[in-house]
Amino acid sequence: MVPRIGRCSAAWRGRACGRVMVPALSRQCLPAARPRWASSEAPEPSQHPRMAELLDVWNRYRGADLFSETPSDVCVGFIGKRRNVGKQLSFADLTTPSGEVIQICSNAESDVAAHEKFRQVPAFAPVGVHVHLEPPTPTKHAQDAQDPGSSKQTVYLRDIRLLNSVPRELIVTPDVQFPQTKRHLQIRFHPELQARLRFRSWLKGVLSQGLLEKGFTDIETPTLFKSTSEGAREFLVPTRQRGTAYALSQSPQQYKQVLMASGIARYMQWARCYRDEDLRADRQPEFSQLDMEWAFAGAAKVKQDVNDIILKAMSALLPSQTYKDVRGERIPIVADIPSDSATDAEDAHEFTTITFANSIAAYGIDKPDLRIPNRIHAMGDIEPIRNFVGMITHLPDPLVEAFTFPLKDCSPAEARKFVIKFMDSLPSSLSENPDGKPQVLIHDSSQPLSGFSSLGFEYRNILDLVSGGKEMTDGDVVVFQAREKPTGQYCLGSTKLGELRNALWKTLVEEGYMEKPRLGELGSLQFVWVTEFPMFKPVEEGEPGQGGAAGISACHHPFTAPLSNKDVELLFTDPLQAKSAAYDLVLNGIEIGGGSERNHIAEMQEFIMRDVLKMTEQRIQDFSHLFEALRSGCPPHAGFALGFDRLVALMTDTPTVRDVMAFPKTMKGEDPFVQSPSKLSNEQLAPYGLQLRSKGKLA
Ligand code: ASP
Repeated sequence: MVPRIGRCSAAWRGRACGRVMVPALSRQCLPAARPRWASSEAPEPSQHPRMAELLDVWNRYRGADLFSETPSDVCVGFIGKRRNVGKQLSFADLTTPSGEVIQICSNAESDVAAHEKFRQVPAFAPVGVHVHLEPPTPTKHAQDAQDPGSSKQTVYLRDIRLLNSVPRELIVTPDVQFPQTKRHLQIRFHPELQARLRFRSWLKGVLSQGLLEKGFTDIETPTLFKSTSEGAREFLVPTRQRGTAYALSQSPQQYKQVLMASGIARYMQWARCYRDEDLRADRQPEFSQLDMEWAFAGAAKVKQDVNDIILKAMSALLPSQTYKDVRGERIPIVADIPSDSATDAEDAHEFTTITFANSIAAYGIDKPDLRIPNRIHAMGDIEPIRNFVGMITHLPDPLVEAFTFPLKDCSPAEARKFVIKFMDSLPSSLSENPDGKPQVLIHDSSQPLSGFSSLGFEYRNILDLVSGGKEMTDGDVVVFQAREKPTGQYCLGSTKLGELRNALWKTLVEEGYMEKPRLGELGSLQFVWVTEFPMFKPVEEGEPGQGGAAGISACHHPFTAPLSNKDVELLFTDPLQAKSAAYDLVLNGIEIGGGSERNHIAEMQEFIMRDVLKMTEQRIQDFSHLFEALRSGCPPHAGFALGFDRLVALMTDTPTVRDVMAFPKTMKGEDPFVQSPSKLSNEQLAPYGLQLRSKGKLA
């Protein structure tokens, strides 16, 4: 193989600096004078047959010489499928490392040998290409050498070199899907996945910059931590000191609080967190948080700073041109994000705040999706509709709640058909609610009392209450549900009606009866802070909680402070009624972050652990480092962690965090690409003083 690439002339270089070529060519250039890919340059093969073979392939594909010197007329990248225009003329796209796509034209008339080589190169291979920047002369086909319809910059082949082999069986079509065992091909050939990873990287940079500008210090804390009862189930990492183990950090919570006692007033970290949790609800055993903590600050400061950094990112994405359809999914394209962000766009997004109790009352859930119109209303006085209530529940003194949805272009008959299908497909948790089934009524002016005769002659007042006085039209649905009248603070995250409302909206949107703003449009990302959460909840089965004997566990985590004096008093009398100074940030109905004001006074922290949660002395002792730090003059502090994977997923139009991670785990916690976790042998376990036992022998 004789290389035919020589140093380019100054004139060529001048042209190489054209608009499109610069990024592609400027970094990847051959040292032109002495091409080093000549076989004569290869070292003498030794006698060893394998060595000769290896050296051959090494020298053939190595390409190191391509990457070291100044630009001229060589470009590198992945070549696409070749398009032949007869025998003499061929084209192929080259995707350069910068993401730019240029078109290579090969013309047998200007060089038969190079053309032949070009036609041998398999699609999708990494290549180095020596090019003419303008049609070589003489060539008969110079004018024809454009692929009709292509707007890409065209360069003209002088030589091409393959930089690695490609499997022959690799078939890539525009809608190709690869299995997760081929994650590298997914990333390479699923453009939506690459677009999401690029956006993720961009967003990370913007959020970091926002915090650094506010004076935050980025501090890394250990992920090899120790086992403490913070709330989530941990992953243990045995050590070679017999009987000891680290626990992988479920969050940097304790370290960041210690940093507050250490005089770091503003802490931030991109933290990897590890939780051995149920993975069904789109969770990953390891995930990323943007973790933050503020000294001498409370909830208001935390919310303000978090709003600021998110709005800064959002403002760069508006107006919506940065969102593009990539294989049917709406993703912001980083290359299209303007460098000077439109500041007025910040006004386009607004962060609402709602208390937990109001969120349950209005939306039946502590993660309200503010894209869903209309709220839930409680029927204060059910006497006038007693008969109707008797039909929907057997509870003697229930709380009856209802909401209405307007359906778009939907006749009552069509609405009825939809409702029957929807109700039939409800999960049993909603359809077999022991408090009574949900009741859906449809506005139909052709019917007596517009289809609401079961409500009796009071129906107008009821409809006014449910619709907030808005006029209803035919096909609109009204959904009623009864539940136990709460005697104290509601401790669960949702009501059945709230769950039903979310599910109904989702299905109505899918079927085109209601609208959801497209990502990139105003109102498509709805942020809401939820505050004043209950401090504790009854321990749920399978949840490790804090392992206390009181049968309750902290809703957020045990370091969260009570909200007010009244709540401190409730800790002594009825902890389940106490509110905490915790807050969540919710985006489109999904929790994307949580935080709280902390117990910075050791006495309060110990009281909560020992007297309220009734944790054992041993478990309390596990936190002795924290007590020590709190006692050393730790200032009041508050913090927050943003679930970064979820935020990116929501902003890039995917329901699963797996789509925004390069190497996610499956719902079984496995990575099919590297095949982890892998089985351990007794030999591997021995240094840790561990041994595998057959199942039956386990204690
Ligand atoms: N460490 C908490 C969490 O992981 C966040 C916080 O309270 O700052 O949810």
